[in-house]
Amino acid sequence: MKAEIIAVGTELLLGQIVNTNARYLSAELAALGIDVYFQTVVGDNQGRLQQAIRIAEERADLIIFSGGIGPTQDDLTKDALAASLGRGLHIDRQAMDHVDRFFKDRDRPMTENNRRQALAIDGGTPLPNETGLAVGNAVSQAGKHYIVLPGPPKELIPMFEQQAKPWILSHVLTDETPIYSKMLKFAGIGESALETQLLDLIEAQGDLTIAPYAKESEVTIRLSTKASLESEALDKLDDMEKIIEQRLPEFLYANRDVPIEQVIVEMMTEMNLTVSAAESCTGGLLMEAITSIPGSAAVFFGGIVCYSNEMKKKLLNVPAELLEGENAPGAVSKETAEVLAEQVRIITDTDFGLSVTGVAGPAYSERKPVGLVYIGISERNGATRSIELNLKGNRDTIRLRSAKSVLYHLWRRLKELNAQAD
Ligand code: ATP
Repeated sequence: MKAEIIAVGTELLLGQIVNTNARYLSAELAALGIDVYFQTVVGDNQGRLQQAIRIAEERADLIIFSGGIGPTQDDLTKDALAASLGRGLHIDRQAMDHVDRFFKDRDRPMTENNRRQALAIDGGTPLPNETGLAVGNAVSQAGKHYIVLPGPPKELIPMFEQQAKPWILSHVLTDETPIYSKMLKFAGIGESALETQLLDLIEAQGDLTIAPYAKESEVTIRLSTKASLESEALDKLDDMEKIIEQRLPEFLYANRDVPIEQVIVEMMTEMNLTVSAAESCTGGLLMEAITSIPGSAAVFFGGIVCYSNEMKKKLLNVPAELLEGENAPGAVSKETAEVLAEQVRIITDTDFGLSVTGVAGPAYSERKPVGLVYIGISERNGATRSIELNLKGNRDTIRLRSAKSVLYHLWRRLKELNAQAD
């Protein structure tokens, strides 16, 4: 099964927006075992869009469109597809009710062009839009399958998950053995080191595929296998997960697609533990990561961004001798990281205090090199530790890696405590 993605929008061609929809759809299709050989981008122009459809039909069985289904005259995807298929368009009743209700609920008059958002291709399946107005469409003709999705990712992603994927499984992949996958998430290890550790498994992979891919500061492995019975597939995936976990227990933090901060919030809630943070070079990134997780209020009490030495002294009681003077360790030092972690824990009365202090660059500071970072972890009734990091990259990368590193070391400590409790 071959698919092609056609992203529609002049904004994409002008470089005003990035085609993240194609990235998302490609990854989702790969997980379904569908090969994407081409991604096309075409502007809001009906002739060129029809040309792109003709080309895609020659080389793909499934064509997925993103964008160009809004209310305005330049939203032409459904018109172009209907014309290519020799079909008409009609107003879908349910979709129209959805648009009407949206305007009534807000007490706003609906302009006539909004009716376009309820257009559906004759003989196709409308795909309801739970997070927006424009209805999607799925249609098959002459052995080819077409799916039309909205442009905004917050509409496209739920529509793909809830409407398009089930349609693909029931209408497109009918003769194929279903594919099952599992995500393994790793922290504290880079993609190449991880791949090296698993090279023999990757090279020997047969009907179970092991596909690593990396994002900033985390690596994901997607295990996939085909089987007619779900239980058979799940057993194979579980067996491979166990083998990988035995090799890399200190890096594998989840067997589902979640960030490490979510696992930390879940573990701390379960363990009834609380945490706070004092951040210098990360300026709040660490706290932002933790508080982005729903339910973090149960574990995260608060923290302080202590960027200047003045604030480190005033708000977190870092002694002046540590910060000032020719032979003082300085703000970027293990000593300061430890005081920050301990003090924030004491001030907020939490079980854990975390800290980050370092040189994010581009200029060096305190005659210390860019990328030198110290992180601290202080525990109630326990030790206060610091870890030296020597990070590579630009300012953004160093800041992000520093915050992720604190999370990684906290996760390892929580895992250790969990193991001791068992
Ligand atoms: P609307 O009703 O908002 O007009 P639409 O389905 O017609 O939705 P477009 O008009 O093509 O979609 O794009 C709307 C917005 O969606 C763009 O401004 C952009 O923010 C986002 N968007 C569109 N295409 C993509 C894409 N391929 N990747 C990421 N974002 C996109």
